[in-house]
Amino acid sequence: MIRRRQHEEWMRRALAVASTSPEDVPVGAVILGPDGAELAAAGNERELTGDPTGHAEVLAIRRAAARRGEWRLEGCTLVVTLEPCTMCAGALVLARISTVVFGAWEPKTGAVGSLWDVVRDSRLNHRPEVYAGVLEPECAALMRDFFR
Ligand SMILES: [Zn+2]
Repeated sequence: MIRRRQHEEWMRRALAVASTSPEDVPVGAVILGPDGAELAAAGNERELTGDPTGHAEVLAIRRAAARRGEWRLEGCTLVVTLEPCTMCAGALVLARISTVVFGAWEPKTGAVGSLWDVVRDSRLNHRPEVYAGVLEPECAALMRDFFR
Protein backbone atom coordinates (compact mmCIF):
# COMPACT_ATOMS: atom_id res chain seq x y z
CA MET A 1 0.00 0.00 0.00
CA ILE A 2 1.38 3.38 -1.01
CA ARG A 3 0.16 5.22 2.10
CA ARG A 4 1.79 2.67 4.40
CA ARG A 5 5.07 3.06 2.56
CA GLN A 6 4.84 6.85 2.89
CA HIS A 7 4.19 6.54 6.63
CA GLU A 8 7.19 4.25 6.99
CA GLU A 9 9.41 6.71 5.17
CA TRP A 10 8.31 9.53 7.50
CA MET A 11 8.76 7.25 10.51
CA ARG A 12 12.37 6.60 9.49
CA ARG A 13 12.91 10.35 9.67
CA ALA A 14 11.24 10.45 13.14
CA LEU A 15 13.52 7.59 14.26
CA ALA A 16 16.53 9.57 13.03
CA VAL A 17 15.68 12.63 15.17
CA ALA A 18 14.72 10.57 18.24
CA SER A 19 18.17 10.48 19.79
CA THR A 20 19.23 14.13 19.44
CA SER A 21 19.74 14.48 23.20
CA PRO A 22 21.59 11.49 24.71
CA GLU A 23 20.14 11.81 28.26
CA ASP A 24 16.56 12.02 27.05
CA VAL A 25 14.20 9.11 26.44
CA PRO A 26 14.50 8.64 22.65
CA VAL A 27 11.29 9.87 21.07
CA GLY A 28 11.25 11.58 17.69
CA ALA A 29 8.51 13.56 15.97
CA VAL A 30 8.13 15.02 12.49
CA ILE A 31 5.35 17.21 11.10
CA LEU A 32 4.52 17.18 7.42
CA GLY A 33 2.48 19.83 5.68
CA PRO A 34 -0.57 19.03 3.51
CA ASP A 35 1.79 18.64 0.52
CA GLY A 36 3.95 16.13 2.43
CA ALA A 37 6.87 18.52 2.87
CA GLU A 38 8.58 18.51 6.25
CA LEU A 39 7.64 21.51 8.42
CA ALA A 40 9.40 20.57 11.64
CA ALA A 41 11.22 17.78 13.44
CA ALA A 42 12.14 17.37 17.10
CA GLY A 43 13.47 14.91 19.61
CA ASN A 44 12.50 14.75 23.27
CA GLU A 45 14.36 17.58 25.10
CA ARG A 46 12.99 17.31 28.62
CA GLU A 47 16.34 16.54 30.27
CA LEU A 48 18.29 18.76 27.89
CA THR A 49 16.19 21.84 28.65
CA GLY A 50 14.75 20.96 32.08
CA ASP A 51 11.30 21.61 30.64
CA PRO A 52 8.59 19.14 31.73
CA THR A 53 6.63 19.95 28.56
CA GLY A 54 9.67 19.42 26.29
CA HIS A 55 8.26 16.33 24.59
CA ALA A 56 9.14 15.76 20.92
CA GLU A 57 5.54 16.23 19.76
CA VAL A 58 5.02 19.55 21.57
CA LEU A 59 8.35 20.90 20.28
CA ALA A 60 7.56 19.81 16.72
CA ILE A 61 4.06 21.38 16.94
CA ARG A 62 5.53 24.68 18.18
CA ARG A 63 8.15 24.72 15.43
CA ALA A 64 5.67 23.81 12.70
CA ALA A 65 3.23 26.51 13.84
CA ALA A 66 6.05 29.08 13.95
CA ARG A 67 7.16 28.08 10.49
CA ARG A 68 3.64 28.37 9.10
CA GLY A 69 2.97 31.56 11.01
CA GLU A 70 -0.25 30.29 12.53
CA TRP A 71 -1.40 27.87 15.21
CA ARG A 72 -3.78 25.87 13.04
CA LEU A 73 -2.06 22.86 11.53
CA GLU A 74 -5.05 21.61 9.59
CA GLY A 75 -4.10 19.16 6.86
CA CYS A 76 -0.80 18.39 8.58
CA THR A 77 0.46 14.98 9.70
CA LEU A 78 2.31 14.32 12.95
CA VAL A 79 4.57 11.27 12.86
CA VAL A 80 6.02 10.13 16.19
CA THR A 81 7.96 7.05 17.25
CA LEU A 82 5.95 6.50 20.46
CA GLU A 83 2.24 6.73 21.29
CA PRO A 84 1.64 10.29 22.54
CA CYS A 85 0.89 11.04 26.22
CA THR A 86 -2.15 13.03 27.41
CA MET A 87 -0.35 16.38 27.09
CA CYS A 88 0.83 15.72 23.55
CA ALA A 89 -2.49 14.20 22.47
CA GLY A 90 -4.22 17.32 23.84
CA ALA A 91 -1.74 19.60 22.06
CA LEU A 92 -2.19 17.93 18.70
CA VAL A 93 -5.97 18.17 19.00
CA LEU A 94 -5.63 21.89 19.85
CA ALA A 95 -3.34 22.36 16.86
CA ARG A 96 -5.99 20.67 14.66
CA ILE A 97 -3.48 18.18 13.29
CA SER A 98 -5.37 16.06 10.75
CA THR A 99 -3.43 12.80 10.88
CA VAL A 100 -1.39 11.10 13.58
CA VAL A 101 1.02 8.28 12.78
CA PHE A 102 2.81 6.57 15.64
CA GLY A 103 5.18 3.62 16.00
CA ALA A 104 5.34 1.86 19.36
CA TRP A 105 2.47 1.55 21.82
CA GLU A 106 3.00 3.04 25.29
CA PRO A 107 0.78 1.03 27.64
CA LYS A 108 1.87 3.00 30.74
CA THR A 109 1.07 6.56 29.57
CA GLY A 110 -0.40 6.34 26.05
CA ALA A 111 -3.36 8.59 25.26
CA VAL A 112 -4.02 7.52 21.68
CA GLY A 113 -5.67 4.21 22.45
CA SER A 114 -3.74 2.59 25.33
CA LEU A 115 -4.75 4.23 28.63
CA TRP A 116 -6.93 6.93 27.13
CA ASP A 117 -8.09 7.84 23.67
CA VAL A 118 -7.92 11.61 23.80
CA VAL A 119 -7.78 12.10 20.03
CA ARG A 120 -10.94 10.10 19.27
CA ASP A 121 -13.14 11.27 22.11
CA SER A 122 -16.55 11.81 20.52
CA ARG A 123 -17.12 14.83 22.80
CA LEU A 124 -14.37 16.75 20.98
CA ASN A 125 -15.17 18.40 17.69
CA HIS A 126 -11.74 17.79 16.18
CA ARG A 127 -10.68 14.17 15.80
CA PRO A 128 -7.55 13.34 13.81
CA GLU A 129 -7.18 10.16 11.85
CA VAL A 130 -4.80 7.69 13.56
CA TYR A 131 -2.39 5.13 12.13
CA ALA A 132 -0.72 3.05 14.82
CA GLY A 133 2.13 0.55 14.82
CA VAL A 134 4.12 1.96 11.88
CA LEU A 135 7.65 0.45 12.05
CA GLU A 136 6.67 -0.71 15.53
CA PRO A 137 9.60 -3.17 15.96
CA GLU A 138 12.19 -0.45 15.24
CA CYS A 139 10.40 2.11 17.43
CA ALA A 140 9.98 -0.34 20.33
CA ALA A 141 13.63 -1.43 20.05
CA LEU A 142 14.77 2.17 20.41
CA MET A 143 12.99 2.44 23.78
CA ARG A 144 14.08 -1.01 24.91
CA ASP A 145 17.73 -0.28 24.17
CA PHE A 146 17.56 3.02 26.07
CA PHE A 147 16.08 1.50 29.22
CA ARG A 148 18.32 -1.56 29.22
ZN1 LIG B 1 4.04 13.74 25.45
